[in-house]
Amino acid sequence: MMVETKCALCGSDNFEHYLTSSDRLSDADQYDIVKCSECGFLYTNPRPVDQEKHSAPFIEGGDAFNILAEPKSISDWIFKIFHPASVRWKRRAIDKLPTIGRLLDFGCRTGDFLFEMKTAKWEVQGIEVDKLGMDYAISQYGLDVVNTLEELVENNSEKFDVITMWHTLDKVSDLSSTFESLKLLLADNGYLLIALPNIQSYDAKRYKNDWIGLDLPRHLYHFDREHLTKIAGDHGFSVSNYRNIPWDTLHNVFMSALKRADKHRWNVRWSINWPLLIWTLKVSWLMGGKWISLGRRCNGSGVLYYLRREESL
Ligand SMILES: [Zn+2]
Repeated sequence: MMVETKCALCGSDNFEHYLTSSDRLSDADQYDIVKCSECGFLYTNPRPVDQEKHSAPFIEGGDAFNILAEPKSISDWIFKIFHPASVRWKRRAIDKLPTIGRLLDFGCRTGDFLFEMKTAKWEVQGIEVDKLGMDYAISQYGLDVVNTLEELVENNSEKFDVITMWHTLDKVSDLSSTFESLKLLLADNGYLLIALPNIQSYDAKRYKNDWIGLDLPRHLYHFDREHLTKIAGDHGFSVSNYRNIPWDTLHNVFMSALKRADKHRWNVRWSINWPLLIWTLKVSWLMGGKWISLGRRCNGSGVLYYLRREESL
């Protein structure tokens, strides 16, 4: 069942159609992204009521821990190769901050990043809505992980010096209450790091409804810098810095190229279609590389925003 929603930024219910795209996990299902007529924010509308039914298994086709042990498809292999590097990249982003102490990862998945930070002497806490991922993080790494943000707000006594959300904010059902809860959890001088796909990126515009970063209907909002800054400001946060996430550009360009090729039925079977695979790799490397080489502040496919609280509570 689908339900119509208002703009989460300004509350307006006036909108125009922006694009229609299919679910990458089930091609038959089509969803709309609309543009708010008042503030220009892009959001999925209508959205599924039962959002959890549409949630992707950790990575397409299975759970992260199965894929790392036994990769089967091309996307599994990409994940296996890039995953350790992406965890290290996240750690380096935190290492550069002039703080250490308590770290919360909201949407911690199987806990790989949190475990990395635990070994770097951080006191860590996770939130993961997927029970399978949560159980894995607890049993495999011995991490402290709860199921929901509300649960943590109720039971938490000490604030966090850093809160990270790696591609989580675009999946929460209520943006305003999420920001208000995060404000309660973050220490006065703390950092809130939010990683999101960038709908105004070069590859998003090039691939339009084939752009993998749309990820409908799981992504309910489609951010760019302007609108992330706006909602952050509405809740007492300011964006102090932002930078590109190079892995996201490579991944998104490659996967979007695959999706587009698949739509045009060029491939019979990816495992045997090597020329097309090599061509796709080349295109994604060139495009991804181009945007990476343009520096940290270009309009890349994925952006990491650094938020600070404007006032102490
Ligand atoms: Zn609006």
